[in-house]
Amino acid sequence: MIFLHLTKKIRKKVKNNDFIFNLLSEESFSSVTPPIFQTSNFRFSDVASFRAAMADEEHEILYSRGNNPTLNVLADKLGALDGGKALLFSSGMGAISTAILSVVKAGKHALCIQGAYSWTNTIFEKILPNYGVDAEIAPAAGLIQRIRPETCLVYLESPLTKTFEVCDIQAISVAAHQVGAVVMLDNSYSTPLLQRPMELGVDFVLYSATKYIGGHSDAVGGVLVCRKAYYSALFNKEFLAFGSIMSPFNAWLFLRGLRTLPLRLQRIEETTKKIIAFLEQHPAVEKVMYPGSHSREQMQLAERQMKGISGLFSLVLKNKSPEAMELFCNSLTYFRLAVSWGGHESLALPYVLWKDSEYSGMVRLSIGLESAETLIADLEEAFKQL
Ligand code: PLP
Repeated sequence: MIFLHLTKKIRKKVKNNDFIFNLLSEESFSSVTPPIFQTSNFRFSDVASFRAAMADEEHEILYSRGNNPTLNVLADKLGALDGGKALLFSSGMGAISTAILSVVKAGKHALCIQGAYSWTNTIFEKILPNYGVDAEIAPAAGLIQRIRPETCLVYLESPLTKTFEVCDIQAISVAAHQVGAVVMLDNSYSTPLLQRPMELGVDFVLYSATKYIGGHSDAVGGVLVCRKAYYSALFNKEFLAFGSIMSPFNAWLFLRGLRTLPLRLQRIEETTKKIIAFLEQHPAVEKVMYPGSHSREQMQLAERQMKGISGLFSLVLKNKSPEAMELFCNSLTYFRLAVSWGGHESLALPYVLWKDSEYSGMVRLSIGLESAETLIADLEEAFKQL
């Protein structure tokens, strides 16, 4: 646990998020980046210390499905950023499914906000009912009214990552806690730098690290940050039993990503604001959807809960024909056509990909690290083809 100890010591010395950049590694030849402990297991010098580790896997380094020093460096930093304790997973869905299954029970009610990430939706719609959980998906506006004494889980995503409405995290958390329900929130859009859900009452904060935390589109990973009171039970049951652990190499890649997260988000926000301003006045565009764009109330709520926007938003073309959307997307050069988001490269995801889409004329853009001028010129060129 040497790295955990050292990073805690450093954290005491620095007042802001700068501990993202700091790590003393006295045990690793003073290397300025932590080594990758690419090992499945750890050996012991005698049976007594082996027995002690077996009895307390949560606090000992025994086997890489539980603790691994490279992962512990990353978990310590991510936990500190959100004000809780972090566990790392091989994907965002690994974190989300483990979190949900650690809380739901047969006969209890689990509530999920409408419009959440599609595979999260699948858990509520198609998987939880198989285990006797009364799972319900409801729009943000009526969510508080749906909470009842049997509710054990309220699952949120704010902002949503297709239409970008925000929900009142604090009000929903208060209502959920009144019946003893656990509140979870997918914070992948904001990262802990733009929104700190635990300060608004959330118990479990979830991330697809694949997105901004990684930032280089080269690794899939997930993070669960929970209040300290939940950590031990979670580690010693669902985390070890389901076993969707992050690999040491990917933890090292996410550590590398984390170092530039503040710089990347700052740059992405500046570029995104310029692109949104360009799109909002463009004659081919019906509307642009981003946190706060929907109404005055939404803007006030977004400003209250978030420190800024990141680089993901949707735009709706005036011309709703699938052919126009295909032409628009095929004409883009810098925006690549691909799923996912949050990386160095700008991406476009047109909803014509789904045949019966209710979102005709809509395309989601993820802004990367290219210059605003280049990306605006690329969009302008594609509009000209319509
Ligand atoms: N949450 C959101 C909002 C996402 O967009 C995604 C993936 O696209 C996930 C969770 C799942 O993350 P992962 O792909 O890392 O499993």
